[in-house]
Amino acid sequence: MDFFKLLGAGAKFDKSRFKEDISVFKPSRRADQQTIDVVDIVPKELDFFGDHSRQQSKRSESAIPASQVSGSASQFIKEEDDHTPFKNNSEVATYLKNHRIKVTGSDVPHPVKSFEMLCKEHKFQPFVLRNLIKFGFKQPTPIQMQAIPIAVHRRDLIANAPTGSGKTLAFLLSILHQVHTEEKQGLRAVIVSPTRELATQIHEHLSNLTTGRKIKTWLMTKQTAAMQAQDPALRQKYDILVTTPLRLVHAIQNNEVDLSRVRNLVLDEADSLMEKGFVEQVDEILAACTSTNLQISLYSATMPASVEEMAKTIMKDPIRIIVGSKGAATETIDQNLVFVGSEEGKLVEIRNMIVQGFKPPCLIFVQSIDRAKELFHELVFDGINVDVIHSERTQTQRNRIVQKFRTGELWVLICTELMARGIDFKGVNLVINYDFPQTTQSYIHRIGRTGRAGRSGKAITYFTKQDAPYLKTIVNVMRQSGCEVPEWMLQLKNPKHNDRKILKKKPLERDAISTVPKYDQKRQKHKQQIIEQSKAKKQRVQPNGESSVKNKSKNKSHDSNVSEDSE
Ligand code: ADP
Ligand code: MG
Repeated sequence: MDFFKLLGAGAKFDKSRFKEDISVFKPSRRADQQTIDVVDIVPKELDFFGDHSRQQSKRSESAIPASQVSGSASQFIKEEDDHTPFKNNSEVATYLKNHRIKVTGSDVPHPVKSFEMLCKEHKFQPFVLRNLIKFGFKQPTPIQMQAIPIAVHRRDLIANAPTGSGKTLAFLLSILHQVHTEEKQGLRAVIVSPTRELATQIHEHLSNLTTGRKIKTWLMTKQTAAMQAQDPALRQKYDILVTTPLRLVHAIQNNEVDLSRVRNLVLDEADSLMEKGFVEQVDEILAACTSTNLQISLYSATMPASVEEMAKTIMKDPIRIIVGSKGAATETIDQNLVFVGSEEGKLVEIRNMIVQGFKPPCLIFVQSIDRAKELFHELVFDGINVDVIHSERTQTQRNRIVQKFRTGELWVLICTELMARGIDFKGVNLVINYDFPQTTQSYIHRIGRTGRAGRSGKAITYFTKQDAPYLKTIVNVMRQSGCEVPEWMLQLKNPKHNDRKILKKKPLERDAISTVPKYDQKRQKHKQQIIEQSKAKKQRVQPNGESSVKNKSKNKSHDSNVSEDSE
């Protein structure tokens, strides 16, 4: 892989020499190609970060005035320097409405209007405020306004807020306050996230916030967990643990960690942690948190009703917050659907984009590891700075790629579902769904890698004839997010529940991503089949060989269930 990368980095495509070949890829907008342009301005009530200036104010013709976007912008009143407590419940209700916060549950604590109010009303330590200022956090976002007071009151919480709206800081601040006010006695808070990349990012955020304090945070790795097993005294050392489910379950089973004093359990990307593949591990983690005082918080940008139902069985009288509208994507993202005809059309479209010039950094999502590799081999020779990340790459490679993408050294990153959730690359300008996402949740999270922290971003989703039956699922999200969608798309039928379930389990079979003509592809496939059949024959002769090998390779080809990544 790195060898190709090296070749690609130095390779230049001679555009004049190959102009005839390029002409094949020149924009040839087919009559049946549809692009949907959507709102490119931030409705005031969604400008969580209070910085309209960052928007490129590139109003498309189809842009809907902010006031027409679901929820009324005209009611928004900015109370930046308002630290005064609420006088009555009706003031609270108006405040919540203006910030598009819906909150349900019994005895809901009032929101805070500013970080200062956390110190005044909830006795947060001054160091918290100092560190917030130091790292540029001036005003709480809506989820932070409401979630922090709830968590401080030690209430269970289901928090549903858009991608890039500051959920991490919401749970980190609550944990910091709790840990700081309690007696030091080993691990008291645990944050679980579905991937290592996300756990690392959360841990970095946490380390910044604890600057200058003796709060010990632990990003669990194989090595650090093993050290604890050898020296149980080390267990008293850490206050807050950030980890992935597999790693933590492994540590529990090997007696490398003691969760009996944990009073605060946060499940980030909770809906994905409640899915098959993770839910068993979450159950094991819950069983190990034996404190009767355990508080559970679930955070995600998507929270299907089924997940909420399941969550309620493990929670005590939870409070539920929804910021914005449920089932919508972040409204600062310009969402586009592009019909590409067939698989080959995708390569044509992406090469068009490269030839015409595009604004990196850009993330490209595909549905499997194999396709990620294939697309990389296609694009690496196009003279663009591209790399690929998936769970088959080593942890060192994965760390290096994430770092390079963060610093802008890498322009285009091809990825699997592994990168769909939580990862905060602030400057991503463009997300391309090269392969149509398998669920609406996947769509919302993938495109949520752009348009973060109030910035604008663009998302393009390719669809082929094969994907067309599922198109309405994305159209629904676009509609929910305040996008203008052509009438004919609105008339489309929703896919049947069962078909959606099938797609969720397994992505569509697609032709290989390749410039090799189809005829050759078929021959290659046939050749491959013969090789595999003869391999299988050989393995049948050897005892215990076959089934495990087969299953392993099958699982590995898809990253859609990222549980394998979480170790
Ligand atoms: P989410 O988990 O909701 O998808 P993150 O917690 O990753 O979003 O936050 C997205 C970005 O917003 C991060 O870069 C974070 O530093 C920034 N951010 C969070 N809270 C604030 C705030 N109150 N003011 C300014 N920026 C913030
Ligand atoms: Mg997050």
